[in-house]
Amino acid sequence: MLNDDVSIRKCVACGKHKSEFELIKVVNNNEQILIDPGVDLPGRGTYICPSQECLEIAREEKSIEKALKTQEPGDIYKKLMEEISNE
Ligand SMILES: [Zn+2]
Repeated sequence: MLNDDVSIRKCVACGKHKSEFELIKVVNNNEQILIDPGVDLPGRGTYICPSQECLEIAREEKSIEKALKTQEPGDIYKKLMEEISNE
């Protein structure tokens, strides 16, 4: 079996398709916008590349808010920025 079970997801900012392990998952968990490192939180989810470029695009376009159908992104962009700079 060669990676048949790897899910391909799309980055909400650049639209590129990658395996879900190469992307950061963000979920709307009861109107709390959270990073989901284990990819196991319930709720509507979206994916983004761990890159500053995609984060900037998403922040400008409000891509995460749109994808997660929320008006209140909280500090998710700050959290994502921290997550990315930790890597
Ligand atoms: Zn991207």
